[in-house]
Amino acid sequence: MLTASPVPGVSTISTLGREELDRRLAGPGLVLRTGAFSTRIHTRIGHLADAIALLYADYPVEAPTAFADFQVRLHRPAGPRHWLKPQVRFDSDGREPFAPLPLAQAYPMFEWVMNWCVSSRAHGYLVIHAAVLERGGRALIMPAPPGSGKSTLCAALAMRGWRLLSDELALLRPEDLQAVWKDLDMPSGHAYAKGLRTVKTCVGSEWCRFGTQDSTQMGKDLERGLFKMYAPHKVKLAVSGCPRNCAESGIKDVGVIGVDSGWEIYVGGNGGIKTEVAQFLCRVKTSDEVMAVSGAFLQLYRKEGWYLERTVHYLERVGLDHVKAKVIDDVANRDALWAELQAALAIEEDPWHKPKEAQVDLRQFIPIKLAEVV
Ligand code: SF4
Repeated sequence: MLTASPVPGVSTISTLGREELDRRLAGPGLVLRTGAFSTRIHTRIGHLADAIALLYADYPVEAPTAFADFQVRLHRPAGPRHWLKPQVRFDSDGREPFAPLPLAQAYPMFEWVMNWCVSSRAHGYLVIHAAVLERGGRALIMPAPPGSGKSTLCAALAMRGWRLLSDELALLRPEDLQAVWKDLDMPSGHAYAKGLRTVKTCVGSEWCRFGTQDSTQMGKDLERGLFKMYAPHKVKLAVSGCPRNCAESGIKDVGVIGVDSGWEIYVGGNGGIKTEVAQFLCRVKTSDEVMAVSGAFLQLYRKEGWYLERTVHYLERVGLDHVKAKVIDDVANRDALWAELQAALAIEEDPWHKPKEAQVDLRQFIPIKLAEVV
């Protein structure tokens, strides 16, 4: 639920009066404005009208004929269900996306419906599952998975004077994204890039009794060492602390597995729609060698791979022997490839921190203007 402050001269639910509120809900619809959106609400459920009157008292309402972004109707089904274990049903623009609920849950359903309308249709915004509070003109955005305590923390902060804006969704305008990222001052995750995605690890010898190697440290070193690396296609790595392979290193572009004598390195795996098992490349003793071999393999792939060719398909085309010859047998060439990659990454700019230098097309942050229909 959002909270609002009344604006002088603007019609709100409380100024409308209860009789008119009921008339609109049961008739032409109540057009309720919540932030950037307006919703036309139809219902004849008395306790739902009570809750709207109480909890949305200071929210602006618009004329029944005004344009509304969303149309929602909450109603009691006819037939035996009207009397026996009564239910509430919801439909929006003729669609009924949710199963009916017990009638006593009409108000929670109304809140879910409002959130559903925004999250499924507000495509002009970046929608984040997050609680939002405000104090002193600054917003606090708390993104977290369901069940992690956002609503409880929100309620506690609201009781201490914070203004609750939402305990469910935060909407960011495209034109604000760069400023928000600047405030956060975080590196970009490159979650969408044709390049390094993540380096998955198991808990390794630090926390697992089976671990023979410190896979988390190795994973961090690889992720930091390869950060900002673009490639012909996405690249995923994994490091497991022992051959039990909990990080699934056998289905990654580069998979590293800890063994008693050091590390084994596998290449060309894929865990996607068509699972591909990675091929054994070599065994090394130290984490520096893991960095050098992985980096050299990826630099070779960057140079020889075709655009949109995953490592598995690159290996199919050139053959594992070709890679072994250049990365394992020819040590001087391996060192040269690894040095080449490090030099390239040293001057690679973060697209969020220095978008112009990283040649980001900034037109993506300009909102699309809606045409006037005449
Ligand atoms: S791969 Fe080995 S070290 Fe890592 S969590 Fe699994 S059992 Fe433990």
